[in-house]
Amino acid sequence: MTGLPNCLVAVVGGGAAGMMAAIVAARTIATAGVDKSGIAVPVVLLEKSDRVGRKLLATGNGRCNLSNQFMTPDHFHGQDRQFVEALLGRFSVNDTLEFFLSLGLDCRIEGNGRIYPYSLQSTAVLDLLRRAAARSGVETISHFDVEDIVVVDGTDGGFRMVAVDGRFVSARTSIVATGGMAAPAFGCDGTGYFLLNKFGHVCTPLFPAIVQIKTDTELVRGLAGIKFEGIAGLRIGSRMAKTASGEILFTDYGLSGPAILDLAREIGGVLQMDPAEQVFIELDLLPDMEYQRLLTWLKKRRGLDPDLELSGFLTGLVHKKIGQAIVKRSLEKPLPLTRPAAELTERSLTRTAHFLKKLSIRVTGTRGWAQAQVTAGGLKTDQFNHSTLESKLQPGLFVAGEILDVDGDCGGYNLQWAWTTGYVAGKSAALSAIGARRS
Ligand SMILES: Cc1cc2nc3c(=O)[nH]c(=O)nc-3n(C[C@H](O)[C@H](O)[C@H](O)COP(=O)(O)OP(=O)(O)OC[C@H]3O[C@@H](n4cnc5c(N)ncnc54)[C@H](O)[C@@H]3O)c2cc1C
Repeated sequence: MTGLPNCLVAVVGGGAAGMMAAIVAARTIATAGVDKSGIAVPVVLLEKSDRVGRKLLATGNGRCNLSNQFMTPDHFHGQDRQFVEALLGRFSVNDTLEFFLSLGLDCRIEGNGRIYPYSLQSTAVLDLLRRAAARSGVETISHFDVEDIVVVDGTDGGFRMVAVDGRFVSARTSIVATGGMAAPAFGCDGTGYFLLNKFGHVCTPLFPAIVQIKTDTELVRGLAGIKFEGIAGLRIGSRMAKTASGEILFTDYGLSGPAILDLAREIGGVLQMDPAEQVFIELDLLPDMEYQRLLTWLKKRRGLDPDLELSGFLTGLVHKKIGQAIVKRSLEKPLPLTRPAAELTERSLTRTAHFLKKLSIRVTGTRGWAQAQVTAGGLKTDQFNHSTLESKLQPGLFVAGEILDVDGDCGGYNLQWAWTTGYVAGKSAALSAIGARRS
């Protein structure tokens, strides 16, 4: 084994939470004026990829939706909401904005309270975090894939972070911020859970969240690429479980768009428990138009222009291709869409109005970890101190970010969780390391 720097705090994982934790730990140590004899660097950030923050660059479609103005615990999921509430109280949205402003980053608020860097570029966030880390004295080591964390016995105690190639870093305290299982292309494959498993930490069931859904493709494939503003209802068996409104996108595999991503967590959880469960999305394509008014209008329209081709019957109400698919589905017997509107029967008109208000599509699954933005489930939160994020099973060991059993809605909630937990773990791990050195 080859030894690398001996430090006070080692952070494993250079994502949003890990970078925040490293910066805060280094600043805390610097202001405390600790005796650094025998310490090569105060804080080391260990990242298995070639560079830190790769996922951050992809967030918010490259714009980085870094937080949300409406930050309440009910936007988060997991087994313990109070855990989330306690932590958000320790490092809030305002604290986050102040932190980024202190790095030179101004932000702007867009629709639904979503907060972005003013330039709408995720590179700005990453560049400033990397610069802040370097300026605070954090040593970043990339290509360092931690496969084990060993507790070191002896007077100085602490941990040894061992990489797959045998190199190691020694530290008084350690923060594990290796993310979850979502989007493995950015380096997250769930190894963090195994690192903590040996200390007795356990996970709640894991499944992909904020992810596109797969459906029967008969209808959606022909409409791939078309978006509309509507309402999506999630029906599980005979129960309407949840509705979400906003942009909905037809794709060749199923459905996407913010309203669908909002429903994906429930779908993932239900299908993980019972893959045979009957799950449907019911689309309201005209949310502002009440059913009876719509039906009256359709009848009137047929009377106003009985020669109008069926292919154009819904033009002006919905996208032309959606209109054609709906009319086709509504016909009692197959007819070419070149036929006139006069041939629409009363029953076909009722079915047209029905499908426009409640287009039912069977869900077959989600697009899985590769496409997911976040992990639902994670390390059980009752095994960590909610004011410090220190393990209750292994003193000196801290966690931050998505690795915990907390996931937020789409809209900046997950990055806020990363900043909040990174801040708390960074500060606590530094204070613990300093305390141990002084005592
Ligand atoms: C495409 C996409 C878009 C998103 N957009 C948004 C958005 O706009 N707003 C929002 O709030 N959230 C968004 N999210 C979610 C958000 O990015 C994550 O919740 C957040 O980045 C989690 O931060 P983290 O630091 O806990 O984990 P991660 O960011 O996943 O970082 C973990 C890091 O640890 C490293 N690592 C893993 N294992 C090891 C190991 N054994 N040794 C060393 N290093 C290791 C990984 O390489 C990675 O760099 C998005 C996610 C994706 C995939």
